[in-house]
Amino acid sequence: MGNRQSRREVLTGSGVALLAATLPACGWAQEPPKRKLGYAIVGLGSYATRQIMPRLKDCEFAKLAALVSGTPEKLERYGAEYGIPKTHRYSYANYDSIRDNPDIDLVYVVLPNSMHAEYSIRASQAGKHVLCEKPMAVSAAECEVMIAAAKKAGKKLMIGYRCHFEPYNLRGIELVKSGFVGRPRVITSEHGFNAQPNQWRLDRPLSGGGSMMDIGIYSLNAARYLAGEEPIEVSAMESTDRKDPRFRNVEDQIDWQMRFPSGALASCVSSYSSNHNAWRVVGTDGWVGMEPATGYDGHQMWTRKGGKTEQVTLPAPPKNQFVAQLDHLAECAMNGREPIVSGEEGLRDMRLIEAIYRSAREGKAVRMTAA
Ligand code: NAD
Repeated sequence: MGNRQSRREVLTGSGVALLAATLPACGWAQEPPKRKLGYAIVGLGSYATRQIMPRLKDCEFAKLAALVSGTPEKLERYGAEYGIPKTHRYSYANYDSIRDNPDIDLVYVVLPNSMHAEYSIRASQAGKHVLCEKPMAVSAAECEVMIAAAKKAGKKLMIGYRCHFEPYNLRGIELVKSGFVGRPRVITSEHGFNAQPNQWRLDRPLSGGGSMMDIGIYSLNAARYLAGEEPIEVSAMESTDRKDPRFRNVEDQIDWQMRFPSGALASCVSSYSSNHNAWRVVGTDGWVGMEPATGYDGHQMWTRKGGKTEQVTLPAPPKNQFVAQLDHLAECAMNGREPIVSGEEGLRDMRLIEAIYRSAREGKAVRMTAA
């Protein structure tokens, strides 16, 4: 995809209206909220402290209320920085006592993958709404227990699929849905980066797997939201250099194909040894594509139809993807609606990930059965 500034399609007035229409909103069943709901952030690592915590001040319906960490120095440092009183700072040992803190309405689990299920379930049991990072857990069985726990508590469960709140990705979904590309035939979705050694992502007991569990899930989720239908068959192939000390017990590259009921095929890449961040939907009449597609910022989108390639430029949204995601759960908690990326969405991806691993292992296609 070329970056042709002269062909830039700058969406102005109507673009803003369109964007507002595509951004997810819960709507108020009764009246707007009287107070912002409070998030407890669980796990004060890179994503929580660099991307999430700084964004909470920009939320309309949510705020930072509490911190949970196993490292007292982090609780002290971030507690002071964000003005979180000592009464609202928790260790993993006394985590369950968040139950008694009425300032905590929502819990955001930003821990290594294999800890997602336990800390989400404990939050549900403490009577809190949960936002859990992707991948939802490390198995479909764990996802099912998480969904049941939230249901039993009568609380919401949402998964941190921030791209569902990112305007370019939403525009892509809308373009495909509106028939811009004609009948979708081929979706390509590639995500990967060069993994640094010595981190939990490369340690199966904490990560649950390699690139697929971390970055590959973006390829999978994008293919699904762009197709607008669920795959019926997957076929995968893995390539891992087991002599590379990074890949002692997790996979490096795993590529797979998915067949959709309409006949469209998706071809997906997941890698811990090469950089990719792109998707493209090619249909009978044209295509729409993005590169970079699913990062924190810098999204670029192109379309091609009738022999003309154009860059799509959208106006800055009132809320970026992080703020919109954080506000969405708060809104849903307040008005009783289901999050657009609920536990069921995380479970769908996890079932497919299990099928992808199985296909690569057994060397044959796996048909998806209805849940
Ligand atoms: P990180 O290593 O920076 O942070 C992990 C945190 O968990 C650290 O604070 C660490 O102290 C804590 N922790 C508790 N017990 C631990 C243990 N036994 N081993 C290792 N760490 C332990 O990782 P991160 O990049 O912040 O990722 C955290 C989660 O967020 C992951 O599930 C990841 O997939 C997700 N994530 C999502 C996005 C996104 O864009 N949605 C981006 C990055 C990470």
